[in-house]
Amino acid sequence: MTAVRSRVRDEVHFLTAGDGTPITLIRVLGDIDASKGPVLLVHGVAMRAESFRPPTRHGIVDALLADGWDVWMLNWRGSIDLDPLPWTLDDVALHDHPAAMRYVLERTGARTLRAIAHCQGSTSLSMAAVAGLVPEIDVIISNAVSLHPSIRPFSRVKLHALRPLLQRGNAYVDIPWRDGPERLVPRLTRNVVRLWHPECGNPSCNMASFALGSGHPALWRHANIDAETHEWASTEFGRVPMSFYAQLAASDRAGQFVSVRARHGLPKHFAAAAPRSEARFALFAGTHNRVFLPDSQRATHTFLDGHQPGRHSLHVLDGYGHADVFLGARAHLDVFPRMLAELNR
Ligand SMILES: [Zn+2]
Repeated sequence: MTAVRSRVRDEVHFLTAGDGTPITLIRVLGDIDASKGPVLLVHGVAMRAESFRPPTRHGIVDALLADGWDVWMLNWRGSIDLDPLPWTLDDVALHDHPAAMRYVLERTGARTLRAIAHCQGSTSLSMAAVAGLVPEIDVIISNAVSLHPSIRPFSRVKLHALRPLLQRGNAYVDIPWRDGPERLVPRLTRNVVRLWHPECGNPSCNMASFALGSGHPALWRHANIDAETHEWASTEFGRVPMSFYAQLAASDRAGQFVSVRARHGLPKHFAAAAPRSEARFALFAGTHNRVFLPDSQRATHTFLDGHQPGRHSLHVLDGYGHADVFLGARAHLDVFPRMLAELNR
């Protein structure tokens, strides 16, 4: 625990999503009056709410508390802190985000809230917003990807050619396959992945590169994160369900995120019509992102700007990758001030 954190108290809230799935919220209470209203933090795929609190001294949670925000961290259904289940982004957009937001507003008495969302927390939240499911949200700070996936050629090979083979008999790719299960496919995968990633001796870093992107490594630039955070991240990743990869594959083919099947409240293509949302988007993208290329956020900015000119912003972060936008040792200097400025605008 750092000195900064010693004055912080957590409240865990248990709630159910719209379809009855259990989800949780962690409210982080600091010693500064949280007069600016609630901010929801939404984690990425195979991660959890706690992933926003790396051992770096100045994390995003510290920065928000010091700036007077009421911080709520969501564990949506894909969180590694909840029982595993095969989810799709549709489920999260339809059921998790609306329920979490209504809960926060009810508890705080606020009329609107803001959000900072990463990776598939961001895609599912963006989907919910443009579908008109979360009118309560007025600012969305999104990292890496929102409505348009743009991925590297090798990621595309894994998604379209390798996934159909892996999903026979495996409902998930489990980043902790590093731990040595005895079944053939996990063992083979683990060993091939280790050989493919001589750049790092940390098996979690290797498996995360395999499961989530393509790069050496894919999730961050080693130069951007300190040794303690790199080690801590070993336990911060879990399962990625094949049901999500299937949706990502269909979305990659369509050039934008698509729903899995027609359901009341969700369009087939999320960037085909004008957004049914007044939310202002601030889109962040690292120039060295090897999970989703910066063109992902550029395409979403072009789409949003076409419908609501001048309202939304795009921040391209020079020298940053994917998760180091939040976990980086210098993120409190390079990234968080820009996010806070967008929240305060
Ligand atoms: Zn590494």
